[in-house]
Amino acid sequence: MGAVACARCGKLDATVRLATVTFVVSAILLSFRRGGRQILCRRCRRLRAAEYSAVSLVAGWWGIPWGLIWTPISVIGNVRTALDSGLDRRANAALLALASTQLRAAGRSLEADEAHNAALALDADIANATIAAPEPIAAAVAPSPAPPIPLRQRLRRPRTLREWLTWGIVGVFVVGVGFTGGRMYWARAFPRAISAPTAPIGGTVVSTRDFAIALPGGWESIAMDPAQIDASLAAFRAKQPSLTIDEWARAQLKNKAALAAVYVGPEAAQFRYVPLVTLMLDDTDLTDLTRYADRVARALASDAVVKKPIDRRKIQLPGGPAENFHYTIDGQGGTVDVMRIVLYDNERAYGYQLRFESLATQASAMQKYVAAIASSLRTPQSVR
Ligand SMILES: [Zn+2]
Repeated sequence: MGAVACARCGKLDATVRLATVTFVVSAILLSFRRGGRQILCRRCRRLRAAEYSAVSLVAGWWGIPWGLIWTPISVIGNVRTALDSGLDRRANAALLALASTQLRAAGRSLEADEAHNAALALDADIANATIAAPEPIAAAVAPSPAPPIPLRQRLRRPRTLREWLTWGIVGVFVVGVGFTGGRMYWARAFPRAISAPTAPIGGTVVSTRDFAIALPGGWESIAMDPAQIDASLAAFRAKQPSLTIDEWARAQLKNKAALAAVYVGPEAAQFRYVPLVTLMLDDTDLTDLTRYADRVARALASDAVVKKPIDRRKIQLPGGPAENFHYTIDGQGGTVDVMRIVLYDNERAYGYQLRFESLATQASAMQKYVAAIASSLRTPQSVR
C-alpha cells in the first residue's frame, strides 16, 4: 500500500488533502498548463499555491490566447486550494481514511483519530469502505504518475478540442497576417501616421495623432489643452483685443474639443458674432457612419435650441464618406447657421464632428471657408 504522505515535504499527518494546484507558462502562441492533483499537507498547500501562482503571474500571460485565459483561472484555482475550498470531498474522505490507518499503524493514535473524524465528516460511506478495504482505494487515490507524452507526438495532430482550437487560432492569425499584411491586427493598436494636408497660403496646419486639418488665412486656432489654453488665450487677446472668446474656448475645452478656431479676417472686428469652427472626437461604441449619423440626428431632433428643419445629406471627404447636417439655432447675436459634418472611422470606432457656426447673414460669405476646412480634414482613415 502506497504511503499517502505530502508530496512536497514528505510528512504524513491529519492535514494532508488531495488538492489541485496549477501553473501556466506561455511563449507567444504556446501555453503550457502544468501541475494537477497532489497530496499536500496544509502548510505545503499554501506554499505550493503561492509558488505556482507566482510562476503563472510572471510567465503565464505571454501567450495568445490560452495564456490570457488560463492564467487567471490557474491563480483563482490556487487561491481556492490555499483556502481549502472546492476540495474533492469523496477523494479526500478516502485519503484521510487511508492516512488514519497508516497513522494508527505508526502508533500515532491521536492524529489517526483526527484523520478518521475528518474522513467521516467529508463522506462517512467512503471513509468506512476505505478502512474496510484500503488496498484498491490507495491505488486510486495515489496512483503512480503517467509517463509524459513526447513533444513530437503532441505536435503531430490535434486530438482534443483544445488542440484543435489552438491550431485553428494560429491558422487564422497566420492567414490573416498573410492576406492583410497585418493591418487587421495592428491598425487599432497603432493608428497610422496621418498625412498632413497642404498648408493654405497665409494659413496653418493643425495636426495631432488623431487628425490633421488646414485652417485658411484669417482663422486663428486656440490650443485645446488645459496646460496651454491660458497662454493661447492671452496670445489671442493681444492680437485681437476686440474679440472676446475666452468663455467659448474654455467651454469647448470642457466639451473635449480637439480643435477650436475663430474667424479673425479683416471684417471680424465689426461682426456681432464671430464665425467659429470646432472639431470633437467621439470615442464611441457605435459601429458605422450610418448609426453614428442617426444618433447625431436624434440628438439634434430632441434639442430645443435647434430650429427645424434639419437638412441632412451624404458627402464625400478625403477622410471617407461623411454626413452633413445643416440647421439653425437661436444665438445671442441672432439666428446662427450651423454646419455639422460627421465622419466615422470604422477601424478605430472613432467619431468626428466638425462644427461651423456663423450668423445666418454671414453664412454665404463663410461658405468657401467651410468647404476648404472640411475637405482638408485628414483622419487615420484617410491614409487607407
Ligand atoms: Zn507538506
